[in-house]
Amino acid sequence: MTKKTNKTAHVLKLLTNADESIKENPILNEEFKDEMIHSRSASEKKIVPDVPKAIEINIISELVQENLHAVLERFRCCSCQICRAEITVAALNQIPPQYAYATNGSYDEVNKLKDKYRAGVVSTLVKLAIQLKNNPIHK
Ligand SMILES: [Zn+2]
Repeated sequence: MTKKTNKTAHVLKLLTNADESIKENPILNEEFKDEMIHSRSASEKKIVPDVPKAIEINIISELVQENLHAVLERFRCCSCQICRAEITVAALNQIPPQYAYATNGSYDEVNKLKDKYRAGVVSTLVKLAIQLKNNPIHK
């Protein structure tokens, strides 16, 4: 009986020793944990930048989208998805893109440039609408 318990105690001691030797490394694990927590909070900070947001807007593309429907209606053109896409692509190919930046939610610069280019975009859309009406791409 005593022998058995001694043996068990010995085995247990070995096991605990073994466990302890395994647990000697955790310093590394703790460091790793800290690093993980640190990098996590760092990446969380990156999600909310202090830098003012600037949104790049292609003025021409917006003007085409804003005016296309009215032009197609005025000239009684087909306004299906295919025809709308056809005119949009043609207009964007003919008119060089103009970019403006909306900073801190201010669209002043964007609106100024839109006023400047609106007439030109509309006249291109009218020209393309008439072309499409005279030469429909589908029945
Ligand atoms: Zn159509």
